[in-house]
Amino acid sequence: QDAARTLLSYAERVAGALRESEDDLGKLDSVAGDGDHGRGMTKGSLAAVAALREAVTQGAGVASALADAGDAWGDKAGGTSGALWGAALRAAAGTLDDEVAPTADAVADAVQAGLDELLAFGKAHVGDKTMLDALVPFVESLRTRLDAGDGAADAWHVAAGVATQKAADTASLTPQIGRARPLAERSLGYADPGATSLALVVATVAAEAG
Ligand code: ADP
Ligand code: MG
Ligand code: MG
Repeated sequence: QDAARTLLSYAERVAGALRESEDDLGKLDSVAGDGDHGRGMTKGSLAAVAALREAVTQGAGVASALADAGDAWGDKAGGTSGALWGAALRAAAGTLDDEVAPTADAVADAVQAGLDELLAFGKAHVGDKTMLDALVPFVESLRTRLDAGDGAADAWHVAAGVATQKAADTASLTPQIGRARPLAERSLGYADPGATSLALVVATVAAEAG
């Protein structure tokens, strides 16, 4: 239950950061998309926080709590990214155990499972200008730093820095998939909204980790 409570405190920070960036993410999504990405991420993360609070109140373990958060995110966020975030969180939850507080390696395995689900469900590739362009290098960096013996907080800091850089680098790409594809050329010079919000999420977690 301690792990579920910790997860809730991280989720509250993440939802706060997404809410602060809601307008910016919406503007980024209106360059070539439909402008709803900021709203969707705020709604999804707030629904996840509410579900986590409820789970913690009921004494749920971290795996059940995260699965509930994924369901809530997927139900309430709307949009492509909402369905993908919901599925990724549920897949991540599936690697965890209600009775065991996850180690840094177990958390990285859970993030990897979320990524695997995104790849399978979303069928996009690195370079398509999606959140994968931040998440794939994030997971690689996280794993490398943990294997090199870094503590969880240090590893998350380094990996979040990589994700932030890679999200910014998507400005030079054109979308190959999703709602932004028909107006792909317009998005040149602007970062992908989903990669930008992904980087914000992991940077917020890293900051909270210390
Ligand atoms: P919608 O495009 O349905 O309005 P959002 O605006 O919330 O949904 O999310 C758009 C973001 O979703 C994109 O910026 C991109 O990062 C991400 N995305 C779209 N399609 C995919 C996909 N197939 N795989 C991974 N990410 C995707
Ligand atoms: Mg959109
Ligand atoms: Mg939409």
